[in-house]
Amino acid sequence: MRYISTRGQAPVLNFEEAMLTGLASDGGLYVPETIPTMSEEEIAALAGLSYEEVAFTVMKPFIGDTFTDAEFEEIIAKAYQGFKHDARAPLVQLGPNHFLLELFHGPTLAFKDFAMQLIGQLFQAALSRSGKHVTIVGATSGDTGSAAIEAFKGLSNVDVFILFPHGRVSDVQRRQMTTPPESNVHALAVEGDFDDCQAALKEMFADHDFREGVKLAAVNSINWARVLAQVVYYFTSAVSLGAPHRKVSFTVPTGNFGDIFAGYIAKRMGLPIENLVIATNQNDILHRTMVTGAYTKEGVTPSISPSMDIQVSSNFERALFDVYDREGPAIAQLMDELKAGSFAISQGAMDRLRDTFKSGRASEEETTATIKDMFARTNEVLCPHTAVAVKVGEENLTEVPMISLSTAHPAKFPAAVEAACGVHPELPPHMADLFERDERFTVVPNDLEGLKSLIKERLA
Ligand SMILES: *Cc1c(COP(=O)(O)O)cnc(C)c1O
Repeated sequence: MRYISTRGQAPVLNFEEAMLTGLASDGGLYVPETIPTMSEEEIAALAGLSYEEVAFTVMKPFIGDTFTDAEFEEIIAKAYQGFKHDARAPLVQLGPNHFLLELFHGPTLAFKDFAMQLIGQLFQAALSRSGKHVTIVGATSGDTGSAAIEAFKGLSNVDVFILFPHGRVSDVQRRQMTTPPESNVHALAVEGDFDDCQAALKEMFADHDFREGVKLAAVNSINWARVLAQVVYYFTSAVSLGAPHRKVSFTVPTGNFGDIFAGYIAKRMGLPIENLVIATNQNDILHRTMVTGAYTKEGVTPSISPSMDIQVSSNFERALFDVYDREGPAIAQLMDELKAGSFAISQGAMDRLRDTFKSGRASEEETTATIKDMFARTNEVLCPHTAVAVKVGEENLTEVPMISLSTAHPAKFPAAVEAACGVHPELPPHMADLFERDERFTVVPNDLEGLKSLIKERLA
């Protein structure tokens, strides 16, 4: 399996190389050259398998010969052994045709553990084989950072630097990033918003000398291996509701478009998905794009679902690449226009996007009302991100079962949840002492050169 960049100018890589570099050197994102498909019989045969077994079957064609079957099985087993639910990603039912896919049973209580725990094991296996060291730099709106730190802390061949927007992540999110004592963990609070953090990260990758000097690796949702890990639970959940014999739809609370893009890959692989519904909060660039056909940046307004507070949705580039018939130069041109704030998507490309994706948004009031209403109707306590999905999912119900993704445990966002439904969500036992642990982080100005020197100093 070979990986190509969405902008057509970066070297073609194998799985291991694409995973270790993350972002392509031309500023694009790596995607598989072809998408392997599964037949109806092969999908039907997933019924009754464990999460780990489905993960192996679904992901194996994408990794080529990077690992032997036995190695890959062990990597998957280690990645998910820390999850607190045997099903890993259990479904619960909200209404006659509406289901919730609980993706928060991993070590940091958000769906990002699915990808990050796997990537940690993949890196460990690849780097211990080659003896190389890499520097992971990640930008986070909250959940990616803690998931990355949890996955990489203490690994011998990796240093992990996480940039998060100072004062704009929840206390639980910050503490998950700042309390691990391992010396290879570096939490950096940037005086800016998430887009500033993400922009700094992209600039570091664009700086060839810096990138090579510190052996940069990205584990943000732009890393293909993360998208791949997330494809798996689309299969497990759809199959448990009757796929391939019955179609399903998904509603995904969306920020950087990584999670929903994994659903798109599942669909391209042959999983019978009727609709993939993009659910945004008030930072609704993707919903506006689906409505208007113009992708236009606006400022970020902080919300009670902070992990979706973005104005540029990186992984959307992967979807654009497909609907522009995989023409790298066309994508490079759009991304160039975006520097000035906006680009228009061609009618043909928009038609194709709308064939697959529906969209909706939830305001702050609607998000709060959904938490309150769902608690009253079902006794389920939703995190605010999940509530955004549930609200938009309800609006998009058809005769096909709807699976809304529950992307975080409500205890990660206790203030918003309690204000909405009056219940104070408790942290699970393994995290109960989070607020007693010592914090360790560095506040840094939103300044690229300063950030780069700090990273070099810490590595020296
Ligand atoms: C990251 C995150 C999202 C958004 O996922 P994307 O892959 O960026 O679209 C939604 N909910 C929670 C809780 C998250 O942490």
